[in-house]
Amino acid sequence: MKACELGGIALSMAVACVAGCTGTIDGGDDDDGSSGEVTLAFVTPAANATFVRDTLEPQDGWRAATVDVELAVGGSPATIELAAGDLALGAIDASGRGQFTLIDAGALTLTATARDAAGAALATATVDVMVGDPDVATCREWLDLYGVTYTVGPMNAGVPDPVTVTTPVNGMVYRYSASTNPRATFFMDCSLARSLVLAAPHLRSRGIVEVADIGVYNYRCIGGGTPPDCPNGISQHAYAKGIDIAGVEDAQGTFYSVNDDWVIDPSTEKTCEAATSNEKDAFLHELICAIKADKVWNIVLTPNYNDAHRNHFHVDLTTGSDFIRKPGATHTHDAPPSPDAFDGHYEIDHGPDLH
Ligand SMILES: [Zn+2]
Repeated sequence: MKACELGGIALSMAVACVAGCTGTIDGGDDDDGSSGEVTLAFVTPAANATFVRDTLEPQDGWRAATVDVELAVGGSPATIELAAGDLALGAIDASGRGQFTLIDAGALTLTATARDAAGAALATATVDVMVGDPDVATCREWLDLYGVTYTVGPMNAGVPDPVTVTTPVNGMVYRYSASTNPRATFFMDCSLARSLVLAAPHLRSRGIVEVADIGVYNYRCIGGGTPPDCPNGISQHAYAKGIDIAGVEDAQGTFYSVNDDWVIDPSTEKTCEAATSNEKDAFLHELICAIKADKVWNIVLTPNYNDAHRNHFHVDLTTGSDFIRKPGATHTHDAPPSPDAFDGHYEIDHGPDLH
């Protein structure tokens, strides 16, 4: 607020002194008398402040950090907008305050831009901040942080950290594919529950409201048989760390069936680079490849892999200490790779076994 003193009477001025206004102009940086000059500066956040993604934003369930912004505003811009990098975050109110949600992790620059009524930029201010993830000691504490409802157990052979999750999981309904009703609860290892929380926003942001699954826990070997005597390794289903996905359904009731809609790609083409054959095929390819790229699951098997996976995506949390398979390999039990070479994520789309 500027004050224009006139004959000893201070008048509050919303815009600028009008003709005939004499005396001093107080306040702001307008010491040159150009009272229309607009200035911006960040009060908060401080430079290089760190924020953690400790909530799930309501629209799609992405992990998000909440950032309170306060600007020192000189002059009277018509609007002030905030952006993170190239992404517009929204408007800051006239007092210079706003609250924003940051989803992407990493270093970023917040830019505030003040504009006049015609939209021309009058002033900008920037501040560099960091968005990271909270330090959480255990998987169950991670579920607690993000508000996942579950009970511990029951104890089952092979499952290191058993939880029974109340569905939906981060807004996503799960239905056993042979059933008409959604699951009320879902037994799995905590790590798989965490992965379903991370998968949910990929589904929700594409309009998906329900996943049809063919199950999680099955105490068996890869290719069949009962652990621990598994010549081809223990299935991730025995650890309750894998889930088979038969299809997904959107809010309009359109069902995208892995069995019916996925068109098997030529073996010479990579799954996530192959041309697709129809709209639903394209949707399923884009969906599973986006989740794979986000490293939600370590292994993703599609119908490209073999006949046993014709009707579902198999996704699991195989770790580097188990075994490694690469496209074209069958059952190589390689030694763990060097840390440099291993990012913990492999795509497997060719081979004979039932995972
Ligand atoms: Zn499976």
